[in-house]
Amino acid sequence: MATPLNIGNISVMPGEMKRGGIPLGGDMYSRERQIPIIVYRGIEDGPILWLNGATHGDEPEGPFSIFKALSHLDPKTLKGTVVAVPVMNVESFTAGQRGDPLDTFSYDMNRLYPGKPEGYPTERVAWAHWQAMKENCDLQINIHSGGEHSYLAHMIFSADTPVSLELAAAMGPNWTLVFRSGTGGGNPSSQIAGLGKGGVTVELGGNCRTLTTDFHNIADDLAEGYLNVMRHYGMIEGKAEYAPAWRMGYQIALLAPATGMFVGTKDIPFETNLPKDTVLGKIYDLYGDVVAEVRAPRDGVIFGLRSRPSVLEGQWVCFFGVVEETVDNLIPGRGG
Ligand SMILES: [Zn+2]
Repeated sequence: MATPLNIGNISVMPGEMKRGGIPLGGDMYSRERQIPIIVYRGIEDGPILWLNGATHGDEPEGPFSIFKALSHLDPKTLKGTVVAVPVMNVESFTAGQRGDPLDTFSYDMNRLYPGKPEGYPTERVAWAHWQAMKENCDLQINIHSGGEHSYLAHMIFSADTPVSLELAAAMGPNWTLVFRSGTGGGNPSSQIAGLGKGGVTVELGGNCRTLTTDFHNIADDLAEGYLNVMRHYGMIEGKAEYAPAWRMGYQIALLAPATGMFVGTKDIPFETNLPKDTVLGKIYDLYGDVVAEVRAPRDGVIFGLRSRPSVLEGQWVCFFGVVEETVDNLIPGRGG
């Protein structure tokens, strides 16, 4: 007899799809709060893949891409299990903000994960999620975007472990920028990688691309990545595809050198190698004079740019990537 898989308040047998939640305690109306979860458990064994969306509440790409990916799944043919958490941080999603505006002491869930059982409100939500995930997860994809202030192109921050880097590469041909991040950091990818599992954070989109067709395109692109991951690990039928090589390095956050209105350079390409000193954008004052230029500090790539023009000195204007090496061997048995 198969044993039930218990996650949050649901118990899932092979071949079942169930919806439920990770309990969080009551709200002001005396209703039970929960993080909504959807579990597809295949009849045959395989990896347990978690798709975690909206750690930041101003990043709806996670939930929409998860909905699209799940529409392709059937627990009768799936091998392994998919645990979908469209919105980890419901309070912040409700507010449309990066963090829960009612919790100013532990605002950013992606810096304090796995939280604390007796901590501030967001720390408690993170802790409940971690308790549900940590024993029941082999692979974890945490989905982010530029949110309310920026646009981010395809970028993966992968824990620096072979299983995590393989998961990053399994996202498919559109994902050629893979930057290593450490284990032990305050985010789900880092924590799950610390247990020897695969953990990656993927970035794509931003509120400047959440209108009609554009939002569908972003979500389809992400969903295709998760489905490619499932093909790679033999969870669904079909042949996975891969990028021929991956560009690896580190990010430099370029901060506004002046206050004003930031405008990116016309036709500047994302994810494309640019020489040092390329003008990435300019900051205008309110008389129309250029008060500062933002230039590439090194040879490298833009993978994100501010999309909300008003800017204060010191705020993000560009997510700049320095490529240190190009590798072709993230998938075991390929490249070398
Ligand atoms: Zn985010």
